[in-house]
Amino acid sequence: MKVFINPGHMPGIDSGAINRSLLLRECDIALSFGELLAKKLRSAGCSVRLLQSCNLCGEEPPAPNICAAANNWPADIFISLHCNSFNTAVRGAETLCCAESSSAGTLARLIQKQLADTLQKFDASFPDRGIKERPDLAVLRCTEMPAVLVETAFIDNDKDAVLLIDRQDAITSAIARGITDYWCLL
Ligand SMILES: [Zn+2]
Repeated sequence: MKVFINPGHMPGIDSGAINRSLLLRECDIALSFGELLAKKLRSAGCSVRLLQSCNLCGEEPPAPNICAAANNWPADIFISLHCNSFNTAVRGAETLCCAESSSAGTLARLIQKQLADTLQKFDASFPDRGIKERPDLAVLRCTEMPAVLVETAFIDNDKDAVLLIDRQDAITSAIARGITDYWCLL
């Protein structure tokens, strides 16, 4: 299986969300997750490409085009990795896809289940926010293979941010298990 990993945002151009008190940037956490996930998926026998860029589907021509790179490879599945942010109080993980009743919806459900189960082992109050349809997102709309965007936890919430720092290995193992669960269904 060919898996395209897109760590969200782009250091130096677009940091994504930030946690000012803990000096955390979403772009750095996403890249760290992407590199760990790539290693685990390669060990499981997947081919992996990883690309972090501010050019999602052609709107920033000097930077590499994420969706075109995934479509041209062509990848079997596409995973974008992000951290959420809202009002510093909201917590939890959610996984986004274009349509719930699709292969992407199945992939999203499998990843979300592994991720929520894993983080609830470290913190029983960690919310499972489920899967959500987001056909407006460029990386889900312009990719031609099942594509999901994982919002691992809320970076602006200090409890979630601690999980994002301390549990990177468990978080990426959970996402990898969701991907291999999907692979087993094919
Ligand atoms: Zn993001």
